[in-house]
Amino acid sequence: MTFSEFSLVLREIEQTTLRNQMMEKLAALFAKSSAEEIAPVVYLSLGCLRPKFDRLEFNLAEKMVIRAIARAYDTKPDEVTALYKEKGDLGIVAEQLRSAKSVVRSPEISIIEVYERLEEIAREEGQGSQERKVDGVATLLQQVDALSARYITRMVVGKLRLGFSDKTILDALSFMESGNKQGRDQLDFAYQVSPDIGQIARLVKEHGVAKVATEVKVTFGVPVVPALAQRLKTAAEMIDKMGAVALEPKYDGTRVQIHFSRSRESGAGSQKDKGQLFAEEKKQDFEVRTFTRNLDENSLMFPELQRIAGQIQADEVILDSEAVGFNPTTGAMLPFQMTITRKRKHGIGQATQDVPLKFFVFDILYKNGESLIEKPFRERREILTNTIRKGKVLEVDTYKETNDPQTIRDYHQQQLDAGLEGAMVKQIDGEYSPGRTGFNWVKFKEAEESSGKLNDTVDVVVMGYYRGKGKRTVFGMGAFLAGVLDEHGTVVTLAKIGTGLTDEQWREMKERCLQFEVAEKPKNFGRVEKIIMPDVWVNPSIVVEVAADEITQSPTHSAGVALRFPRLVDFRDDKSVDQITSVGELSHIKIA
Ligand code: ATP
Repeated sequence: MTFSEFSLVLREIEQTTLRNQMMEKLAALFAKSSAEEIAPVVYLSLGCLRPKFDRLEFNLAEKMVIRAIARAYDTKPDEVTALYKEKGDLGIVAEQLRSAKSVVRSPEISIIEVYERLEEIAREEGQGSQERKVDGVATLLQQVDALSARYITRMVVGKLRLGFSDKTILDALSFMESGNKQGRDQLDFAYQVSPDIGQIARLVKEHGVAKVATEVKVTFGVPVVPALAQRLKTAAEMIDKMGAVALEPKYDGTRVQIHFSRSRESGAGSQKDKGQLFAEEKKQDFEVRTFTRNLDENSLMFPELQRIAGQIQADEVILDSEAVGFNPTTGAMLPFQMTITRKRKHGIGQATQDVPLKFFVFDILYKNGESLIEKPFRERREILTNTIRKGKVLEVDTYKETNDPQTIRDYHQQQLDAGLEGAMVKQIDGEYSPGRTGFNWVKFKEAEESSGKLNDTVDVVVMGYYRGKGKRTVFGMGAFLAGVLDEHGTVVTLAKIGTGLTDEQWREMKERCLQFEVAEKPKNFGRVEKIIMPDVWVNPSIVVEVAADEITQSPTHSAGVALRFPRLVDFRDDKSVDQITSVGELSHIKIA
């Protein structure tokens, strides 16, 4: 397949707002791709080069891409910048400049060649690498047609965004094979085990949907899609829906999936090549890698985990845990706000001393080559207890089994009294299932009888902002429009939020919005009523957690409900847009 053929399909997808049509066009594109082509086709259609957990970024500032465009089409960077100001999209700028040139085009470049050259550009490192990247992009832009230049440029600046995600690709793969979405269950299972959408597409091509699930294996270094918790309003409902349950404390820290292996050389991990953070690491004969709940690798963030080898009685394991900061003098657990100070990328050494972490391990997904995710909870916990020795970094708490609502309430209260966030309630025979499927895991945060406030916060995506009047004009915004997802994955409006932000957070919000501002309403947004129309649209990317007092019916908001007295709690960089609260979930949040 040539890159120009691929670009024509991207344009068709860009022109449709209908999700099903988008999916069908993808399915046709995949059908035309060979087994060798399909992974590059999938990655590039998503605007990336690798799966999320193994990111490879271009790291090329817009200014440099402007230089590459200027070099490719013999103009001055100033002229490119002026055109960019007018059009607001570097892809369109490159396309226009390319159309205006009557250069003789070299023979059509294949999608695989473009992919390999983009990979090469992204992999450039060290002295002079920026210049080499600019050169690489310029040469590529010279060799392709105008429409291809549009999409290559958007890929390089990280702004392809055609409005679909990995999930649409799974639908399209099923559709390609059978003309419907029936294959989703098998594909979802495979994706849970190995969320590399390019690899899954290749396996579908090679073996068919039915065999994909048997072809993927839980592996060290590839994160398993984490299980998340549902909400239920009362303890009685929990027993009703879940049967016998296990009760565990709900720690208020940050989710960390820990991959540990003795059979791999230390330093082999992708991040570790770059950082020499752990001085003692060289001497060690094991490797630890970690992933966020959002599948991003963050192995460099937790030097504590270099001390867990003695606690693990296995060669290789994958553990699910919550990391919580503690006071190094008193040993007391610290609140979430303190724990997340550990999430920064710089000054890790100092942060490790100020806020050391303990990892409360609550699940085991893999041990010595064997996947455990299909085993029932009770069995996994037994294996977990037998695998982790007592020690300073990893902790395995006990859990309580019950089928009595009152025991749940009492247990939950004990957790609150102990300063924890509440209780996690898990089906005793449940498998480890990804995302928020069914009522396998349920969280219980505030006492049932508490009133006046919602019993949970809501995760929303920023859809746009209002410039603001009076004293807020200094921040460049006075409020923002927030949305949640409906059952089709469309972003629908839920609240206009203008409180809860510190001055610092207003500044940060403005800065973040600047990165994602767009001239037109993004196409995966649903209805937005005139009276709440923002002054500036923002592509769905910034996820924030908000608290509110009530959820009320609303004719104005396209979610059908609205938040009363919404206020910002914090930015949630650990969540992606497809993990925000859904309209369906809102109905499980208790209304005061
Ligand atoms: P919240 O907003 O309540 O922090 P969340 O939206 O981030 O939750 P949920 O699915 O609602 O995620 O709750 C599950 C989260 O709770 C997990 O991602 C994990 O970080 C945390 N957690 C704390 N204790 C446990 C536990 N014992 N078992 C599973 N998850 C736990």
